[in-house]
Amino acid sequence: MAKKPVKKEFTAEVSRLLQILTHSIYSNKEIFLRELISNASDACDKLRYLAAKQSDLKTEDLKINIKIDEKAKSITISDNGIGMTSEELEENLGTIAKSGTKSFIESLSEDKSSTMQIGQFGIGFYSAFIVSNNVKVISRKYDSEEVNLWASDGTGSYSIEKYTNEHPIGTSIIIEINEESKDFLEYVNLKSIITKYSDNINFPIFIIERDSSPDEQINSASAIWMKAKTDVTEQQYQEHYNLISHNFDKPLSTIHYKAEGRYEYNVLLYIPSARPFDLFDQQRKAKLKLYVKRVLISEDTEVIPAYFRFVSGVIDCADIPLTVSREVLQENHILLSIKNAVKNRIISTLTKMAKDENETYETLWRTFGAVIKEGIYEDFEKKSELLKLFRFNSTKSDEELRSLDQYIKDLKEGQKSIYYMTADDFESAIANPILEGFKARDVEVIILTDPVDSFWTTVQNLYENYELKHVAHAKDEIADIDITDKSHKRNNKKDNSSNVSDLLPLISKILVDNVSEVRSNASLVDSPACIAIADNGYDKTMQKILNERQGFQVSKPVLEINPNHPIFGLIQKKAKNNKSKQVETLVRVLLDYALIMDGEKPHNIKTFGKDILELLNNVN
Ligand code: ADP
Repeated sequence: MAKKPVKKEFTAEVSRLLQILTHSIYSNKEIFLRELISNASDACDKLRYLAAKQSDLKTEDLKINIKIDEKAKSITISDNGIGMTSEELEENLGTIAKSGTKSFIESLSEDKSSTMQIGQFGIGFYSAFIVSNNVKVISRKYDSEEVNLWASDGTGSYSIEKYTNEHPIGTSIIIEINEESKDFLEYVNLKSIITKYSDNINFPIFIIERDSSPDEQINSASAIWMKAKTDVTEQQYQEHYNLISHNFDKPLSTIHYKAEGRYEYNVLLYIPSARPFDLFDQQRKAKLKLYVKRVLISEDTEVIPAYFRFVSGVIDCADIPLTVSREVLQENHILLSIKNAVKNRIISTLTKMAKDENETYETLWRTFGAVIKEGIYEDFEKKSELLKLFRFNSTKSDEELRSLDQYIKDLKEGQKSIYYMTADDFESAIANPILEGFKARDVEVIILTDPVDSFWTTVQNLYENYELKHVAHAKDEIADIDITDKSHKRNNKKDNSSNVSDLLPLISKILVDNVSEVRSNASLVDSPACIAIADNGYDKTMQKILNERQGFQVSKPVLEINPNHPIFGLIQKKAKNNKSKQVETLVRVLLDYALIMDGEKPHNIKTFGKDILELLNNVN
């Protein structure tokens, strides 16, 4: 006797995704076919892989059939791949396993822009619900007699039951097409969508109409990575890239070659032009398919380093034994050698692009530079080469990007180091008084605004024998460089710190709870004060990150005051006349000014308001 169907709830993220899919007008409905064909192809790949390893496992000719049933208003996508057990149906089609996708979906709301965002990545199986309110999956695992039926109307739940009719090994997905999507029941439409998105699928795809037998294979299934570069068109590359990356953009650059040294292998890699949505997900890896003579053996290798994780593509190497288990594959010496060679190839491609196609390279850097920077602390051997690829905004140019080589070429006379500043954004960096001394001397300062900048600069502090120095550590060093801005000539090399030496302890006492140190900074020009970093201390971004991750105690700021600023003469006078209340107000406002100019809040918003009012009320 047949068992009753078991009803199950979708997990929260799946329900959320289905809600968004079924409630919004999806402009790119046709991608459901690409996603389901891609799953069918993966299932065939998995079975072919097993068959290549187990000689007693016989498989039929692996293929994908798409059947149109006009009467039932449905299409069925069938593969004779690996199939799923009832547990796998539940696990795979009731949850979302990938952490990046999960958190991305959780963050989405139900408006139109969410649907647009969803279009940026493959939603996989659930995309069937874009065109249907009734989806059935019949599946039989390759080594089993048991067939199961999964069904859902795309609301909160699905059911699984034993399927009592016959079904060959593999999976059939039956999609009842809703009224608004009925165009998908037309042969010509299906054919053109398959040609557009799935031409490079590695297994033959057929369309079956009205129980007729299929005549023509729709896709070319040509493994374009095995072809010579000259035999592949731009269009074919683009389609293949879209297929394997699940993205819609055009690749910015394509790397396609056959290596013929100690090992023979074909490499086809794409650098995207748009950021994948999960680029900064900690678990994200490059989307790389590893084949052995066109048999897909892994999509989970770390052949491409994490700092190039935006790259996607295919490597096909005949020399890797098929029998190697996935667990030890990562340690396989051939793969390790390929890994190194491919990394070098990506670096040399980027280096050449930076030299010959500056505009394209700038686009790449703006899109992926923040990821490439991770290479400095992840790949000790390559860090010098990588540093050459870095591009920056600087006080010299907020639009065109600068390289370190350009920076060095334009060093000022007497300039000893490469100066940089870390900040949340370019505008606030430029407004920070700490840069005044550099501006007055026309000394270029690199502005770093990615969170990762606070990391890599602690690991790499040298380029071509020049030290990379945070501006907060360079105030004494630049005193030797001539001031070029005539309006600041008065602020000469002389250090007037003695003017304020008696004030430093007084200010420290007033701000004892708020700062770790008060010191003089003669390189300040117009501003009375700025926030600096303690000698050998971390910048504030790094301190915040260390605090979040390791409970590191964030230190109080260092306040630097400008010994040449007239306000300190006034404070000295008031202190002598025992006007301690006024002195305290002025000192607190100085600290708040420095904090705000450093992109922070005043140290105490209440006192700040009172202090400012008091100053405003006493203007005369
Ligand atoms: P993804 O394919 O990105 O992993 P999906 O939601 O499309 O995500 O599919 C989830 C899982 O369901 C797949 O990883 C696979 O294990 C399984 N699956 C989907 N379609 C098929 C199929 N036709 N044959 C076998 N397994 C499948």
